[in-house]
This record gives sequence, C-alpha cells and structure tokens, in this order.
Amino acid sequence: MISPVLERFLRYVQYDTRSDDSSSTVPSTPSQMIFQKALVAELLALGLKDAAVDANGYVMATIPATTKKKTVPAIGFIAHVDTSPEMPGAHVRPIVHAKYDGRDLVLPDDPTAVLRGADLADQIGHDIVTASGTTLLGADDKAGVAEIVTAAEHLAGHPEIPHGVVRIAFTPDEEIGRGANHFDVARFGCACAYTLDGGGRGEIEFESFSADLMTVSFHGFNTHPGYAQGRMVNAIKVAADFVNRLPKGDLSPETTGGHEGFVHPYVQHSGVDRTDVKLIVRDFATGELAAKEALVERLAREASAAWPGSRVDIRIDQQYRNMREVLDRHPDVVEHAREAIRREGLPVVTKSIRGGTDGSRLSFMGLPTPNLFAGEHNFHSRLEWVSRQDMEKAVDVIVTLCRVWEERTAL
Ligand SMILES: [Zn+2]
Repeated sequence: MISPVLERFLRYVQYDTRSDDSSSTVPSTPSQMIFQKALVAELLALGLKDAAVDANGYVMATIPATTKKKTVPAIGFIAHVDTSPEMPGAHVRPIVHAKYDGRDLVLPDDPTAVLRGADLADQIGHDIVTASGTTLLGADDKAGVAEIVTAAEHLAGHPEIPHGVVRIAFTPDEEIGRGANHFDVARFGCACAYTLDGGGRGEIEFESFSADLMTVSFHGFNTHPGYAQGRMVNAIKVAADFVNRLPKGDLSPETTGGHEGFVHPYVQHSGVDRTDVKLIVRDFATGELAAKEALVERLAREASAAWPGSRVDIRIDQQYRNMREVLDRHPDVVEHAREAIRREGLPVVTKSIRGGTDGSRLSFMGLPTPNLFAGEHNFHSRLEWVSRQDMEKAVDVIVTLCRVWEERTAL
C-alpha cells in the first residue's frame, strides 16, 4: 500500500494553485478555492465534522479533545495551499525516485535540471519526489498540507491518544504575503499554532526578520527638453545619485548572511518629474531598523541637496516583526516542539528565517506560531524536492506534539 502522506501529496500537486500578486480578489486566484473545497470534502470524510471553507478561502477544522484533563490548551497546525506565482505550476508531473541510491537525478523534461547527489547524501534509501524539470513541484507547501491531513486522519482514527482540542487551517495567498490578512485568529481559538512549511528533518524556526518598507520619492521639475536650460531638475538623476550613495560593501542582501540585516532597493518607478525608489529594510532586532532607516534618509537628503531644485520625501510602512519577540513570552510553544522532535529521534535544528512567514504576522495577531519542518527543499525552484520519509517524520512530530501538550498540562 502506498504511504498515505505520499498518496495525498501526489494528488495535491496536480492542483494548480498559484497565487497572483496582481489580483485584488480574495483569494487571489479561483483555483485555490477549488483545491480548498476538495480538502474540505476530504476532511469531512475523515470525520472532522466542522470542516469548512470561508468566503475568503480559509479552511478550518477541529479534531475534538480526547483527554480528560480540563485545561489542555487548544493548539493549531497551519499550511498554505498556494504555490509561488514566479514559476510554472500547472500540469505538474511528480516523479517518485524510489530507494534513492546516491546518483545525480536528471529530471526528464529538461536535461539541464539536475539534482546533485552531494546535496541528497542524507536521503540514501529514501523515496524522493521531484517534478519533471519544467515546473514547480509544489512541495512548498503541499507537503505541509498532506502532513497535517494525514496527522488529522491518524488522530481521528486513534481516540486512545490523549490530546486537547487540535485545530487545523489551510490558508491561501501566503506566497504573495497575504496569507494572514483574513485569518480569523479569534475563530481559530488556539493558544498557539505551528506552520508546517519548513525544510529538512528536525528543523524548527522561531525567529524571523523584522521588516519595513521605505518609499523614497525624489521630486524634480520637468519641462520640454528643448527649453529646459536652467530650469529642468531631473528626478531620475537625483535618484541615481542616491542609489549610488547606498552602502556597497555591507548592509546589502548580496553581502550579508546569518544575523546581519540590510537595506535593499528593489524597485524604482522613474520619471523626470518624480522618481520613487522602494527599499526593504531588514534586521532581526526591531530596534536596529530605525538606525538603518536614518542612514537611508540621510543619504537621500544628501543626494537631494546635491541637486538644487529637487526635494525628497520619505515614507516608512511596517511590514512584519520578528516572531521571536512574541515567542520568547511563550516559551512552552517552542520547547514542546523541540521535545516532540527529540522523541521522534531527530536532532533539533534551529534556524533563523532571513525573511518572514505567515507565522511572523500571526504571532503579532495573538497566535504565537513558529515554523516546523515539512521536508521541503529548493523552494520556488524547478529543482524542488521532498522525500516520503521526511513527510512521514513530520506527521509523527505533529501527533507527538499533540501528546506532549497534553502530558505537560497538569489538570
Ligand atoms: Zn511556503
């Protein structure tokens, strides 16, 4: 018999669920709703009686408590159903490379798509799933969805396992940064949650960047170029001067790693009359964002001062904050996850996310939410892969984590 989590995964990746940044609908694409409705039908068939999708495309369902203790907190498990719009996600042809033997894996639809044996060394003997070379696989995050559904099936079928209320949620539009926008934390009703959207076996991520968006707008003065002498002020040149003053050797994504932050101009809308430069500002310490923003502001004002007649204005929008600020106040959330990973015989690997997750937003919306491994690798690439054995481990960790929360609650 095929492994239940693998069977589900192979079925789910057939759904094209790319989200769409340019769409203003919720969810951003109708195809996500089609997949969500299929998931609801599957959860109902597993006996999760309240499984439903809301108008915004969020699926929620409950596995009722089995424990006699009265104070075991409700905990949640969350995965996102959309895949990255940056890559083709339709007509995915998943390939199971059974009992992997260590060689390079050449994906059949594109001979230049090669997974190196050296990168798969800890997967010898495992069943590795890839796409065929021209599309995403969609392991990010259908591996997480398949793992949560399979854990729900296990818990629903084994009422002798003591646990509190377990809630599950499947969210749309994570890849376009909107996954938390319409998440009803009150309705979810959990003390904490875990996203299943991480990498290799044993990983837990409970620290993310803190993030702001800066929009630096340079205003010039436009005239007909034939009559511009002594009058025109070209905002494009002012902006170029500003960008050239930005740090080059440090404080840039291409020169930093680990716990270092950066400022990063990533898009520019240019015109003679007005040029907007958008920058993202990132640091693990929220307090450090202000220093980086002050630097950007100083350089922008210096550039503007060098071009008489120009002026600059600056807008700062908060994007998300380091989830650790919340999780440090709820140490059980991460500690119980570490315990569950250890009990499943895995070394605990803690990582800092040089980015944000839905969990970063949800943590600050009142739902402390670290990220657990789902076995995903090569996110947003046609070289994405996941192994059956890693997905099965993630299922086991979910079930064990429910037990740990029950055990460690006194009454
Ligand atoms: Zn993801």
